Amino acid sequence: MTPEEVMTKYEKYINPAATRLFRFMGLSSVEGSGEGWTVTDTEGNRFIDCLGGYGMFALGHRHPKVVEAVEKQLHSMPMSGKVLFNEPMAELAERLAAVTPGGLQYSFFCNSGAEAVEGCLKMARLATHRTEIVATENAFHGKTFGALTATGRDLYRDPFKPLVPGFLHVPFGDIHALEKVVTDKTAAVIVEPIQGEGGIIVPPDGYLKQVEELCHGKGALFIADEVQTGIGRTGRWFGCDHDGARPDLMAVSKALGGGIMPVGAFIGTEQAWAGFIEAPFVHTSTFGGGEMACAAGVATLQVIEEENLLRQSAENGAYFKAGLEKIAVEFPDVIREVRGRGMMMGLELTREGAGGMLMALMIARHVLVAYTLNNPKVIRIEPPLIMPRDVIDKVLAILYDAVKQVDDVVDEL
Ligand code: PLP
Repeated sequence: MTPEEVMTKYEKYINPAATRLFRFMGLSSVEGSGEGWTVTDTEGNRFIDCLGGYGMFALGHRHPKVVEAVEKQLHSMPMSGKVLFNEPMAELAERLAAVTPGGLQYSFFCNSGAEAVEGCLKMARLATHRTEIVATENAFHGKTFGALTATGRDLYRDPFKPLVPGFLHVPFGDIHALEKVVTDKTAAVIVEPIQGEGGIIVPPDGYLKQVEELCHGKGALFIADEVQTGIGRTGRWFGCDHDGARPDLMAVSKALGGGIMPVGAFIGTEQAWAGFIEAPFVHTSTFGGGEMACAAGVATLQVIEEENLLRQSAENGAYFKAGLEKIAVEFPDVIREVRGRGMMMGLELTREGAGGMLMALMIARHVLVAYTLNNPKVIRIEPPLIMPRDVIDKVLAILYDAVKQVDDVVDEL
């Protein structure tokens, strides 16, 4: 099939408006194959992947150790029948308990980030017998009903109202705002350690620890949504680790499947799991925790340790960010601010139109980037953690040229 034929089918059978938007942004390539930090389209064009599947490709594309683990399971027991025990699931749960902040012990496996968030919200109500959930403005937690209700952007919420009752939102990073609303009716506070889709917003140092302490003072649970920040993205295993914060429940997904399998999990302390231990079938999933998915998760955690990817994410992320900051200083009319931690970075631009233009210019130069879902003024950069410095230098040179081009027309955007 030619790319044009694929796009025509998209227009006819998937979504005409979304296809037109992609065309308008100059996106007309069809994914052919991925390897390391590159994606090659069906016409043979190679792209450097600086978007990393919204944080999913932490190990790059088709990491050989994850491929090997998944292939082995494929030819023995790919999916779980849920009646007999499942070894890869047991092993992944043990490994997650070892790498997550102290106290998190039990895991439930699902298939996506939103499902992991749903699980956390349900566990919080079950464990506390309370109903209120406090989330933050501008947050992104996914688009199923509970996760959408926690999400802090009306554009996604309004068409689906009424949403789940009992949720309120306060500004992110502001502990005083939280203090005013967390009460003895609060089941949980849910926050992202860094707001990802909200525009790569890093909270003040100590905020996550303060959220933990505030929750515990009121008998509420602290839910960390680590779907995007988790599994090495920010240079530590989890975003909470930067603050030494210990959540009661954590949602993970994206990178956990090594970019090969869809895997999500929610992980909780003994106390957060209390209701679920009493009634283990109140939350179930047919596909969640399949052997192939869990084998991918085990291999992913092993690769991160063996290849020292936490250090690489921290050090190469700092190097990348310093390069972005240099470009920002030279083009203040285009770039307002550079933010992020480890390999999770964002460029906030001065104008909304500049985001789409910069994205299109980068893709035309064969570097994949995208703006964040809640904030089209922020170009997110989330490369595979394995990306070496010479490739980072190449991306920075390409970005410099593209920003220069935006600078020439920025007043008209
Ligand atoms: N939570 C966070 C912090 C996310 O960034 C995302 C997706 O971007 C989700 C939840 C939802 O994940 P999914 O798209 O797998 O449902």
